[in-house]
Amino acid sequence: MATPNAPLVMKGGPAAGRLLAKVDAMSGTQVEACYQCGKCSGGCPLAFAMDYQPRQIMRLVQLGLEDEALASSTIWVCATCFTCTARCPRDIDIAGVMDALRVLATRRGLRPGDRNIGAFHRAFLDSVRRFGRGYELGLMLLYKLRTLRLTEDMGLGLKMLAKGKLALLPETAKGRAEVEAIFREAAEGAREAAEGARKAAEDSPETAEGAAAGPGRSKGAAGGDVR
Ligand code: SF4
Ligand code: SF4
Repeated sequence: MATPNAPLVMKGGPAAGRLLAKVDAMSGTQVEACYQCGKCSGGCPLAFAMDYQPRQIMRLVQLGLEDEALASSTIWVCATCFTCTARCPRDIDIAGVMDALRVLATRRGLRPGDRNIGAFHRAFLDSVRRFGRGYELGLMLLYKLRTLRLTEDMGLGLKMLAKGKLALLPETAKGRAEVEAIFREAAEGAREAAEGARKAAEDSPETAEGAAAGPGRSKGAAGGDVR
């Protein structure tokens, strides 16, 4: 995992404005409205595993620092849980911005530096499905088991435990049943989409190709290019 909270050097750049306009258009939100309150970072269940915090990603976009934003591990670690979007006092769709950045990175042929990011996403989703919320310690253990990176970051994990930033035991959210229902609905939707694509492939191979690619946003969010 990347070192959390990498320092952000504010330096602006000639591309400032271009990236902002692109990301605004793709995400349907206004990143320039961000006033750096940090509520998005404060609520992000995966902030501990990101090199830049969500708040810092917003700043990178405002400054037009495209290379830094697209090379960040944050955009791949983000699980599109929308917690940040729900918390933002400026109504910025931060999850949508992450999605737009993933699409831009993919267009430039950039991939997550960590090839096990898919295992990380699955471990996070398992954790949310089970407890109705993220359980960081369980998530990390599951991720380590799946990737056999058992001792990596152990020092960081112990430090976080000592500082009380990781809970030893999971807490179950009140809305766990609703979360479970969302997972079931999503699985059902994915099954129907796969079935639709299969039928389209039988009817017309060309149409099926288009259907399988789908709209830009869902392609990025599904992480099809990540794994
Ligand atoms: S919560 Fe909204 S306004 Fe605050 S730092 Fe995040 S994006 Fe910016
Ligand atoms: S959508 Fe991504 S950045 Fe926002 S809270 Fe969830 S994991 Fe964090």
